[in-house]
Order: sequence, then structure tokens, then C-alpha cells
Amino acid sequence: MTSMMAFEDKSNEAVEVPTPGASMEEDAGFLLIALVVSLRSRDPSTQVGALVTDACGHILSSGFNRLSRGLDETSAGYRRDGAWLGTKYPYMLCAELDALLSCAGSDLRDHRLYTTLHPCHLCAKAIVEKGIGEVVYLEDKYPDKDFRIAAGRILAAAGVKARRPSVPWSADVVRALIRAARRE
Ligand SMILES: [Zn+2]
Repeated sequence: MTSMMAFEDKSNEAVEVPTPGASMEEDAGFLLIALVVSLRSRDPSTQVGALVTDACGHILSSGFNRLSRGLDETSAGYRRDGAWLGTKYPYMLCAELDALLSCAGSDLRDHRLYTTLHPCHLCAKAIVEKGIGEVVYLEDKYPDKDFRIAAGRILAAAGVKARRPSVPWSADVVRALIRAARRE
């Protein structure tokens, strides 16, 4: 073989393309990052984090639940009780939507959305319309709520796989560690 042959033309050979399937380590790693991101939320009752990753495993964007820009970010802005217009609910931006809105890509078929909580019905629609291929979530706190059931139907109807991998750490322990580390 001459040195020229080092650049042998292999264009006609079958090329092994990495499949977008994730390993448990990869899932656990991205969910851990999403969990760290979630703690940027100033919502005193619920902190959710989300990431959009591409087929090569790069993080394209991240998001956390927050009030829409310009609104009162103090705890008063995160009220849960009382008349709907006075609560946080109409004004909240979900972590998933935050991550999707800051993701520049237009074709996200090979992309994955990692989130610390199963998406709601509103985010499920955004995930589907944006063309995300797969949703990986850490927790599923409201499996029997209508918005969660609707979200599952929306994702399934569009063929978006949603899965909840097991992770080798406790989300509550990680949250407590991060909060403790912040105080020091
Ligand atoms: Zn949502």
C-alpha cells in the first residue's frame, strides 16, 4: 500500500452512522444538568429545567420555568392561590417552552428534549410543532391530571417518544446538595 492509499475512497462503502439512541449514562447526565438548570427558577414552589440536545449530544439550549419577561420576579409574582389573574399561572413560561424558544434550529427531528418534569399539554404542542424527536423526563408528578394525560396523547399522536429512564441518583438529594452549596 502506498502512502496515497491512506486516503482510500470509501464513499461506496456502508458507513456506520451513530444512531440517536441514548445510553443510560447520557440520559442521566443530561437530566442532571437539567436539574441544575431548574434551580435557576425563582418560583418558590416548582423548579423545572429543560435542555434541547442534538443528535451528536450537544446542548443547544436550556430553559427553566419563570415569569414572562418584565413581570414581577419576586415571590409575590409567584402566587398560587386566589383569582386566576392574580396568580402566577397565566404569566408563567414553562422550562420546555423557554428551551424551545431559545433553540435556533428549525429541523429538530433528531433532537431530544430533556426535562425534569413530564411536559404539560401546552409544551407538548410546542414540542410537536417544533419537530422534536424524543422527550426524556425525570419526574412525572401529575400522571392523573387532565393536562398531563392530554400531553401524553399529543406527543403519542405525533409519534414523539416520551420516556422516563432510571437514573443512578436521587433528584431530591441533588437538589438539596446544590441548594446547600449555594448558601456557602
Ligand atoms: Zn409546559
